[in-house]
Amino acid sequence: MSTTRKHIALLGATGSIGTSCLDVVRAHTDSMQVDVLTAHSNWQKLAKQAADFLPKRVVLTGLKQDDVAANAFPAAVEVEFGEEALAEAVVAADIDIVITGIVGAAGLRGTWAAIEAGKRIGLANKETLVVAGSLVTKKAAETGAKLIPVDSEHSAIFQALECGQANEVAKIILTASGGPFRTWSAEKIAAATPESALAHPTWDMGPKITIDSATMMNKALEIIEARWLFNLEASQIDVVVHPQSIVHSMVEFVDGSVMAQLSPPDMKLPIQYAITWPDRIEGVSPKFDLTQTFSLDFEPPDLERFPALSLGFEVAEQGGTAGVVLNAANEIAVDRFLHSKIAFTEIPRLCRSILASHQFESDPTLDQLLSLDKWARQEALRWTSLTSHHSPSLTAPPC
Ligand code: NDP
Ligand code: MG
Repeated sequence: MSTTRKHIALLGATGSIGTSCLDVVRAHTDSMQVDVLTAHSNWQKLAKQAADFLPKRVVLTGLKQDDVAANAFPAAVEVEFGEEALAEAVVAADIDIVITGIVGAAGLRGTWAAIEAGKRIGLANKETLVVAGSLVTKKAAETGAKLIPVDSEHSAIFQALECGQANEVAKIILTASGGPFRTWSAEKIAAATPESALAHPTWDMGPKITIDSATMMNKALEIIEARWLFNLEASQIDVVVHPQSIVHSMVEFVDGSVMAQLSPPDMKLPIQYAITWPDRIEGVSPKFDLTQTFSLDFEPPDLERFPALSLGFEVAEQGGTAGVVLNAANEIAVDRFLHSKIAFTEIPRLCRSILASHQFESDPTLDQLLSLDKWARQEALRWTSLTSHHSPSLTAPPC
């Protein structure tokens, strides 16, 4: 590890990834510091973080000056507002690494700015690659930007890939916890409530990704993320359910050797590795006690109870505009489910329906992707207003 401190821009500082990242920085103030912190609207939490970490600047993308109490932030911290300010903050010359912890397609703007500036990026915002994987990876190759995965499965694969050459990789195996409904019957899943879907058995995450884990749409998005990040064919990606979330993913090489990365489920580890790579430093995450008895279980995913997963394979194979449409439809579907406007099982149905009705384009521009994102959101909202009146979950008792 170099002796100079790494200067970090942390996008989405107030979220689950953001707070885990700040735990990592707090434990390593000798080698890391945050220069930029951003949030959307939670200025109270951002102000507290600013007082603790004294960044050079903070950005609130969803608020204006008048929304924030006077003197909320330390006098030495510059307070800025809007997406433009965020894009400017990440490209500042002294930023070494940008950690993208914003949720949803809203994360694309800041990530894209960092890529154009050739920055090193700790990529948590998987939606960036789902929406614009081919353009993002192409632009990164042009500018020299380095995309280092923070998503635990992709971090595991990134680490396991170091055991061989790219042309020696047969396939990758993404592990999935299976979410809170892994053992539920199809009937019980059909009546799932937001409360039960938010109760993840192994990971403590923001609400959107927690619902994605319950539908297994998270794994679908991760298949697409892996396809672009590691330049693989969709047919080279497998998914296996592993309820303990200890084996974070695996790479199978052509000789049959399988390399895996293991650790207790805690996002601080992949976040720290994205910052310190290619070095490793003392970790802040809990470690295994290998003297105790424990078991690792693996089972095939059930595509009938979790149809969202099939969408991941299909969209990874199609490429083009399929990712942006799937992502936008899913963001609306998750929001509507969390507001008890549609049933849990309508989430993948809605996504498939919007995907099927879109005008597919194999080689879209960024502008085309952005306008399709808008179109898919409008269509998804229209779909929910037309079809959500008899949702079983809206009348079912909590599980
Ligand atoms: P959270 O919901 O916990 O946090 C989201 C963050 O993004 C908050 O800081 C929020 O600010 C900010 N934000 C929300 N909307 C916008 C917007 N429109 N523009 C700018 N900023 C916005 O999410 P997570 O931390 O769970 O997830 C973040 C990303 O990391 C997602 O892409 C997720 O898939 C990925 N990821 C998360 C993991 C986890 O363990 N949580 C694991 C692997 C990947 P505010 O608080 O002001 O609303
Ligand atoms: Mg993951």
